[in-house]
Amino acid sequence: MKRNELLNGLAHLFFPNVCVVCGRELLSGEEGACLDCLYKLPKTHNFKEPDNKAEKLMAGRIPFERIASFCAYSKGGTLPPLIHHLKYRYGKNIGLLLGRMFGKDLLGSDFLAPLEMIVPVPLHPKREKKRGYNQAEIIAAGLSEITGLVVSAGNLLRVVYNPTQTKRTKTQRWENVRDIFKVADTRLFEGKHLLLVDDVITTGSTLEACGMALQACKGVKISIATLGEVF
Ligand SMILES: [Zn+2]
Repeated sequence: MKRNELLNGLAHLFFPNVCVVCGRELLSGEEGACLDCLYKLPKTHNFKEPDNKAEKLMAGRIPFERIASFCAYSKGGTLPPLIHHLKYRYGKNIGLLLGRMFGKDLLGSDFLAPLEMIVPVPLHPKREKKRGYNQAEIIAAGLSEITGLVVSAGNLLRVVYNPTQTKRTKTQRWENVRDIFKVADTRLFEGKHLLLVDDVITTGSTLEACGMALQACKGVKISIATLGEVF
């Protein structure tokens, strides 16, 4: 037994690692979630399905090419505890793992072929500092590892912290959403087909706001990938 394996074995004895989904103790080589739970993930495979539910949700709100979500995010299902772990428990490895799994599924697809750059949905710097990382950036890193696409973090910026949308008129709300994100250097994204990446898509308002801000870049094309879809 190598020294590292011995140390891991000892750490395991004192701090048993359990699957965040089913609670079973993890085997060596498993991280965050057990292979059984990962195998049971309810994949949508909707990257093969133009005009899928996510695309219908976003139609007419921003110009986009394609939208894909890795899994269905159903209550009591396999994905919610993984996303929770990724967002609130320093579960970086889970994010990388799921990003890689999604990337492997996309390899060789028409969805992936035209993409040129990955852009994770940014957090406000205050929020990122609090969490220690941006979960969308971790997913993007996993996707990038498999697909070879470059990740651009830091050019699309979140400039508004926690916008409150209640008690506003429709026009005010629109202005509010439109100004949440900003592109620092539009030249970097000009004429590029970007893959916007986020953890989940629910109402699509965050992705819509990102898409709005990206319109400042001439000739930009946008596709979207999320780990989960909540609808
Ligand atoms: Zn499990």
